[in-house]
Amino acid sequence: MQIIQSVNEMQSHAIGLRSSGRLIGLVPTMGCLHEGHLSLIDIAKEKTDKVIVSIFVNPTQFGPSEDYDKYPRELEQDLEKCRDRGVDIAFTPSVAEMFPQDYSTYVKEEHISAGLCGISRPQHFQGVTTVCLKLFNLTRPDIAVFGRKDAQQCAVVKKMVRDLHLPTEIVIGPTLRDADGLATSSRNVYLSPVQREEALNISKSLKIAKDMVDSGTRSVDRVVAEVTHHLAHSRRIRVIYVNVVDRERMELARTIEPGKQLLCVAAWADQTRLIDNIEL
Ligand code: AMP
Repeated sequence: MQIIQSVNEMQSHAIGLRSSGRLIGLVPTMGCLHEGHLSLIDIAKEKTDKVIVSIFVNPTQFGPSEDYDKYPRELEQDLEKCRDRGVDIAFTPSVAEMFPQDYSTYVKEEHISAGLCGISRPQHFQGVTTVCLKLFNLTRPDIAVFGRKDAQQCAVVKKMVRDLHLPTEIVIGPTLRDADGLATSSRNVYLSPVQREEALNISKSLKIAKDMVDSGTRSVDRVVAEVTHHLAHSRRIRVIYVNVVDRERMELARTIEPGKQLLCVAAWADQTRLIDNIEL
């Protein structure tokens, strides 16, 4: 496995790969890799000839009072996991090269980014789209693989690709969960055993919603109320939002149409912000 730090080297290497006819797959990550990330690598490997994993904790997608400084960084273990999984190139640029002092250009998607996480994290998706466009320019991917766990991110990046005519296909992998149902996340390392136990109520509440829909409930209000009620029992959980939205535009649904919508939840487990969703 090649490890590339320099942005210029990454770009000229990717251009070379493309001109030799290789299909490039990119898996963008912020590191602290877990099984969810590795499942996306497997998808990229299946679909392309050369898999690039970027590992970059992107400062522009964190708000001023968020966890950028304490976000877990485990580069050596990450590189080992990438090597074991058959990644061809790990791209690990520095903040200084990606966002130098005089950096001043941002990409902003204005509709899909506005609701859900966009309400409590107003700069977040601009940081995501900006870094994704930069990573796409540097790695020239035929496909880029993202995880459904970050459903709004998937929709925003897909929209950016469409709006800006980017020659990259966005592929979405399913949410990977630990055996107890908790969606794997780099932020799970923040959770104490007690917090983790309470955080499990998030995936449990999604399951309750799914069961309600499977047994015929079509009222969004009833499903949202039930999920909110379930989460209210956990002392350490504070709900940020519970919404039923359509998958592409992330617009609030009026009635449930099975197979077309997602129930999305964001909640604090004490100081840890967690998100999860389920297809209804
Ligand atoms: P992150 O490192 O958290 O920025 O995530 C990098 C990529 O991994 C994003 O496309 C995420 O949606 C995806 N991802 C994170 N957690 C999971 C999971 N549990 N299952 C599948 N993909 C995930």
